[in-house]
Order: sequence, then C-alpha cells, then structure tokens
Amino acid sequence: MQCTYCEWRCDLSDGSLGVCRMYVEEGGAIRERFPYRWSSCIPSRVESVPFYHAWPGSRCLVIGTAGCNFRCRYCSNSFVAKQDPASIQDGMIELLPAELIRKAKQLGCHSIVFNVNEPAMSFPSLVELAGEARGAGMPMGCLTNAYTTEESTELLGSIFSFFNIGLKGLADSFNRDSIGIPSVDPILRNIRRLAALGHVEVTTPVIESANDGELEEIARFIADVDPEIPWHVFRLLPEDEMKGARYPNIDAIAGALESIRAFLPHVYFHNFVGSDWVNTRCPDCGTTVIERFSLGCGGDRLRSFICRGNLCPSCGREIRLHGEKVAWSAGEVRQ
Ligand SMILES: [Zn+2]
Repeated sequence: MQCTYCEWRCDLSDGSLGVCRMYVEEGGAIRERFPYRWSSCIPSRVESVPFYHAWPGSRCLVIGTAGCNFRCRYCSNSFVAKQDPASIQDGMIELLPAELIRKAKQLGCHSIVFNVNEPAMSFPSLVELAGEARGAGMPMGCLTNAYTTEESTELLGSIFSFFNIGLKGLADSFNRDSIGIPSVDPILRNIRRLAALGHVEVTTPVIESANDGELEEIARFIADVDPEIPWHVFRLLPEDEMKGARYPNIDAIAGALESIRAFLPHVYFHNFVGSDWVNTRCPDCGTTVIERFSLGCGGDRLRSFICRGNLCPSCGREIRLHGEKVAWSAGEVRQ
C-alpha cells in the first residue's frame, strides 16, 4: 500500500517503513507509529518561530514530533529529524490532544504552532488536535517544507490557518545534493495552494556557495504568488553534515535583498546580531510600522506596533496581517 501523505509516495507493503519511518500499513490503512508523542511542548513568542505577520505580539505553544521526509545536509534539528524515531526516548512526552490544549491555556498561549520537524509526519494526531483547538478557539499554525501531495496539502490547509513554508532553493542540483529531493516543483505548487487556503510566510536559508545565487529568482516566484507574502531570509550557520562550512556574508546578502524590496516589500533578514531587517516598513511611505527586537538566533520579540489595525498610520496603506495584535498575557514562559 502506498502512503500518500508526501511526495515520496512510499510503498509501505509488508511492514516496510517509508523515508520518514513514521507510518505503517495496518489493516489496509496507513497508521501513525507514535501518536500523541511530542518532542517539544514549550511556549514561545510567535515572532521567534518566526511569524511576523500573524497574531503579532502573541504567545504560542510550540510543538513538534519526530521524523522528517527531507535529508537536509545542514539540519539544525537532526536529533529529532534524522534519528530513527523509534529510538528517541529522551525528552519525548505523550499528551492527548485535549491535554495539550489544556497545557497551552495554562501557559497563557494564544495559538499552537507546529515547529521543530515536519507536520506531515504526524497527520492523524494533528487532525485530532485541530478539532480540539477549534473547540477551544485556539488558532493553529505550522512551519512546513510543503513536500506534501495535493490531497495532503488540502489536509494541511484544514488543520492550520497560518504557515511558514521553507523554500530552500530552486535548482534540481541543490535540491538533490543538499535536501535529498528530486525536484522543488511540488513545493512551488503547494505554496500557491496554501497561499489560497490561509496565511503564508516563506523562509529561505541562505547557504554560502549553494543557493546564494538564487535569491532574486526565489523572490520573483514569491512575488508572483503574492507580493504581500513576508519572506524570511536566514543566514544559515550550517550544522550537522555541513558543520564547519563558511558563514554567508551579511553585506553581500543585504545588498541583494535591498533591490528585491522593490518588488517584494516585506523582506526580513535573520540570524545575526543587530539586524535592522527585522522591522516592518510601510512599502509606500517607508514608515516603520512594526518594530522588533532580535537576539540573532530565533530570539525575536515585538518591540512596538504602531499600525492602526492593519493600516499604516502615516499613509493608510494596508499592512496585511493575519489576526490582530495580541496583548502579551501573564503566565509562565520559558524560552
Ligand atoms: Zn505608509
């Protein structure tokens, strides 16, 4: 029997495991091997995920599971993404969906965001969780590599309302050598579809000498889908198999991004201390409408929010946001 959750379409006949090792065939159906088992369940600022145009200022419960359908050579979460999921015990917690929602509420979280690994690894648990979250009025978002089939992209769209999609590179050679997939085409198709179904932001890690020549082409694709999509460019400090590789040059990337802003205005550049590319500027008049503070490595927070609703206070241009600004609520936060 073929698994149709992602574009690998693995054959799970006779008890074999697919690329991600997270599903098995049982009684003519695809079953999750480790339901309700989470590798992460901690509150965070939504800006740190990052989401810059969704529920600004809010606190989310960041969850993750194990397994991945990609084999990125630079993976920073290889502990949960690349290990045999059956062998990971340390730090994994089992919580039923209703218990997870209760925990999110206790911690003062406004939403739930799937991060760490790939949500397509845990579809059945997430479908159940989405049902509970809907009942509790809690929005759900995710980071995804969007290597899902057309059917399961619809499933993603029914579970989550906001997405940060990883678009790592366009060239087949890059995708084959650095990510381990034959083509980026399904991802491009799914970015278009998810942008129609919900709120989308896109993230691209810049890897020195691997995809740094493709920035403009990637930006043109995003602008063609929708020029209001926020684009997060991450200066990648390679881990895992690429540990020791050269760090991308900040000035060279910033120079390339400056000209991209002309056709894709909401460009953000992350992962170095003191970046002033973490603020939102009004594309028409240049006023800084949302100011953020960045510690350089995923420690972002809202500093000031001067939009009037979702309008620039100076010229009235729409700054597209998914959800309104949410007041930071009291409660325990570890980050
Ligand atoms: Zn303006």
